[in-house]
Amino acid sequence: MVVSEDQVNRVRERLEKQLEDTRTDIQEIDEQVRAFGADHEAAEGVDNHLGDDSDIVYEQERLLTVREELTGRRQRIEHALKKMDKGDWGICENCGKAINPERLDALPFVTLCITCQEQQDRRGDGRR
Ligand SMILES: [Zn+2]
Repeated sequence: MVVSEDQVNRVRERLEKQLEDTRTDIQEIDEQVRAFGADHEAAEGVDNHLGDDSDIVYEQERLLTVREELTGRRQRIEHALKKMDKGDWGICENCGKAINPERLDALPFVTLCITCQEQQDRRGDGRR
């Protein structure tokens, strides 16, 4: 294993803090979405003023987009933490080789080494 225990512990601490922050952010978004939904329903019950709802819809969509991003981040963090528990954090999920420790420090969520990442990016280009 190329990744030192020191680095794992250091990054784990960082990730756990980020996970906590992300969970708090998701909770806040959820509350905002709920509040918006309630407002929206109350407004609809009173009148069919469709034209005035666009701001609410826009704001709701924005919140849901942010929520999706946060959820994605939470999953990536949890995935990385799980790998740390198993002791295979820092191992490329594709080729099984060690990922460059500097790359891991900058991007703790990466699951691929730079070679596999580049291959995947090229494949994902959509060129046929
Ligand atoms: Zn690889």
